[in-house]
Amino acid sequence: MSAVVMDGKALAAKIKEQVRLQVAGMEKKPGMAMVLVGEDPAGQVYEAGKRKDCQQCGIYYETYHLPEDVPQEEILDVIHFLNEREGIDGILVQFPLPRHLDERAVQLAIRPDKDVDCVHPTNVGDLTLGMESFWPCTPAGVIRLLAEYGIDPAFKNCTMVGRSNIVGKPQAMLLLRQDCTVTVCHTKTPDLAAECRRGDILITAAGRIGLITADMVKEGAVVIDVAVNRDANGHLCGDVDYASVAEKASYITPVPGGVGPVTRSILMENTLLAAKRHGK
Ligand code: NAP
Repeated sequence: MSAVVMDGKALAAKIKEQVRLQVAGMEKKPGMAMVLVGEDPAGQVYEAGKRKDCQQCGIYYETYHLPEDVPQEEILDVIHFLNEREGIDGILVQFPLPRHLDERAVQLAIRPDKDVDCVHPTNVGDLTLGMESFWPCTPAGVIRLLAEYGIDPAFKNCTMVGRSNIVGKPQAMLLLRQDCTVTVCHTKTPDLAAECRRGDILITAAGRIGLITADMVKEGAVVIDVAVNRDANGHLCGDVDYASVAEKASYITPVPGGVGPVTRSILMENTLLAAKRHGK
């Protein structure tokens, strides 16, 4: 079997175009602000990507770039200012923050109705309870990719490798909401290969190059690689040994060009949703 490659770029372009068309018909445009701390080059690449996405969609965009040693009160002041700023519907803070900052305090400070990446405990709780809330962009992107390719998680086993608060845990919750049977794995899972082989859908977000090899994949499984790693040559790659796994899977996401672009487009959609909830 040679897997169908799930084209995240194409899906992202479609989602962004739908957002652009809706925004074009709005009198008051949605607005998004990103809060970035320090000089991490990766953070700056993400920032540039978000700026470009907003431009494409007609969404107003601002960045608050704070120094690495910014005091806690100052980042909280920025969040409080953005909470009250009428033109801003969505606030995105680039995590992780430098160690001297209290991430939880920052997450708690973001007004839940502007929390477009679902980090505030109120939104995380609502997501877990199955209530209406923002869906975190990366797990929501995975759900969209599955839907785009007509893959219904109901009555299927999913193995999720990774239990982080931003990917693994919310991914498991979203799949549960879709009647999937989910197993969440981590570094203390006794037999990772056996758990992976049970997955009709296998999602990996470990951040470990070469972790998922073909012998760990069920014949015909859907394999979604969320991870973004850099190999010895500085090229982007995921956790999955792509060439061999693509021979065994029915569907597979590439890295780059899979989950990443869809994640970014969901942020645009969530900002539009926030603007609508703000009466725009
Ligand atoms: P993280 O916080 O480091 O979590 C990694 C998870 O994987 C942890 O739960 C860890 O287990 C588990 N894990 C690591 N090595 C493992 C192994 N050998 N066997 C089993 N489980 C293992 O990372 P994250 O923030 O969730 O990000 C994960 C990856 O996704 C990274 O590569 C990141 O760059 C990427 N990412 C991509 C997007 C996107 O839009 N494409 C968005 C966010 C993140 P323990 O809990 O036991 O430590």
